[in-house]
Amino acid sequence: MPTVKNVRCPLCASKKVKLRFFTPAGDIALCQNCTLLFRSPQPSQEMLEIFYRSKYTSSRIERRKTSMASPLEVLNQIINHLDKDFGLLKGKRLLDYGCSLGDFAVLAKEKGAKVTGIELDDGARYEAKNKDIDVFKDLRELKSSNSDNKFDIITLLQVIEHLRKPWVDLEELSGLLDKDGIIFISTPNATGLNARVTGGRWREFKSPGHLYWFTYESINQVCKKAGIVYVSQVYWRITHTKYGYMRRFFQRLLQVLRLSGSVMIIARKTEI
Ligand SMILES: [Zn+2]
Repeated sequence: MPTVKNVRCPLCASKKVKLRFFTPAGDIALCQNCTLLFRSPQPSQEMLEIFYRSKYTSSRIERRKTSMASPLEVLNQIINHLDKDFGLLKGKRLLDYGCSLGDFAVLAKEKGAKVTGIELDDGARYEAKNKDIDVFKDLRELKSSNSDNKFDIITLLQVIEHLRKPWVDLEELSGLLDKDGIIFISTPNATGLNARVTGGRWREFKSPGHLYWFTYESINQVCKKAGIVYVSQVYWRITHTKYGYMRRFFQRLLQVLRLSGSVMIIARKTEI
């Protein structure tokens, strides 16, 4: 692997950075110290804006075909696990950071949670608002509103890989978390079986909006940098009904072996 000169890891500042993959969407570097994979160089703000506009065109939203939205079936299972494993969602204040079209927020609301969303994209935010969700453009807008600014649960579903400096967002989010609150994060697993087998052709490398790819190790580092110390992995059974028995069994096996498609963690500010 060629070394990248004068590039430091954006997470741990190590100089042990190597070029790992060359993809049509740009080169991807690996930090050999903290295992973070990141686009190098990072795309400009203008490029990202053009990309997100193309993702959230009105016709795509109508057909719910935007690749930014997670399958409803998966969202439903996550919400059921949160509801079951962390006390009922009823009455809890939940912030969905990067709420996209508001699908997850709607499911949380149906469970009785008091839901707020943050969504940067104007089109997606408009859609979420139409679903009767309180959505703000960013944390600054939320904080300057009259809304309650403390939350019991903060969720980031397939969002953290899109953020410029996820540790900065997480630090700010942790300030909004109630003393006993939890942050749930899911993100593509850079050491999952699919990533290992497909290498530079891994589907998660294709989106120009993905700036980082994480392992359990590097996600821990991100939380640590954000001042969140108590991080635990979750091994929830997430099944896809369209899969047959064997494939579902295999998927469960991958989850247990930490080789499934997503890294899922729960982070807290205080030890329980
Ligand atoms: Zn690093």
